[in-house]
Amino acid sequence: MVRGISLLSGGLDSMLAICLLREQGIEMEGVVFKSPFFGVKGAEKAAKQLDVKLHILDFSDDILSLVKHPPHGFGGAMNPCIDCHAVMIRRAGEFMRASGYDFVSTGEVLNQRPMSQNRRSLETVAKSSGLEGYLLRPLSAQLLEPTIPEQDGRIDRSRLGAISGRNRQPQMELVKRYGLTEYPSPAGGCLLTEKGFCRKLKDLFDHADGIPPVAEVELLKFSRQFRLPDGGRIIVGRNRQDNLALKALREEGRTILHTVNIPGPTAVVLGEIPESDLLRAASIIADYGDKGTLTDIIVKVITPEETREITVTPLTRETYQPWML
Ligand code: SF4
Repeated sequence: MVRGISLLSGGLDSMLAICLLREQGIEMEGVVFKSPFFGVKGAEKAAKQLDVKLHILDFSDDILSLVKHPPHGFGGAMNPCIDCHAVMIRRAGEFMRASGYDFVSTGEVLNQRPMSQNRRSLETVAKSSGLEGYLLRPLSAQLLEPTIPEQDGRIDRSRLGAISGRNRQPQMELVKRYGLTEYPSPAGGCLLTEKGFCRKLKDLFDHADGIPPVAEVELLKFSRQFRLPDGGRIIVGRNRQDNLALKALREEGRTILHTVNIPGPTAVVLGEIPESDLLRAASIIADYGDKGTLTDIIVKVITPEETREITVTPLTRETYQPWML
């Protein structure tokens, strides 16, 4: 039995690649990577629809190292796509060897993306991932160099695709052929392509000693964050759900602030914070609070060592806006 492992992003092309190979009796399984920047929901949904076994590999350390040192640089934000893609393929190759599959496949289509999916870049990825000869792109296979399983007859090349370019018509025909009912738009959803998120990420990397831990990166998903003038960093809740989640971080030994004499948001301090910035943090949540004309706002500061109350005057939005990440 010929067995292959296919990168399953959850996008249509990655699903069709599996369908095309299964049609000729090849046993296919899927693999997807998870990290703080992208999840596996789409792939899980696709695997369910295809009734294919899905392996989830943790990619957090790989992607964090690439964000720190991207050999081929970033795309439009902090997305090291060229390297990310190559490392994913390399990891899939390691998985292939360790688990005894015959090849790795992907849903890439020749010339679908002018920069990353032209003939040269597809060949470069195959070479640099160490998978040359074992990396199959079933949708475009007939237009590419034959892989080793095609050469030795384990895969029937004549039954693979010859799709090229951006026209989606051939894929739509395959959708009909395989009776796919749900097919999401191509993967997307990577936080490394979102400029707002990347501002916070850059700040974290700029202030970290080496590569920041995954737990710190996860906290960047809270939207309202500040880097204060003396180096302190805080997150301020935007809504009840945020406030509850931030309060829970107290259990991890983090410093929490919340207003006492008015309804207002919760803030959590990340890392060390000087007293000057702690007062600023209190004055920021005082301003976000429901203060009316009140000028003396009491804020409770809960640190792992003590709980105390301080009285502050709200800062004006113009003052703290520039500190927002
Ligand atoms: S968009 Fe994100 S997940 Fe996709 S290749 Fe780029 S960095 Fe990797």
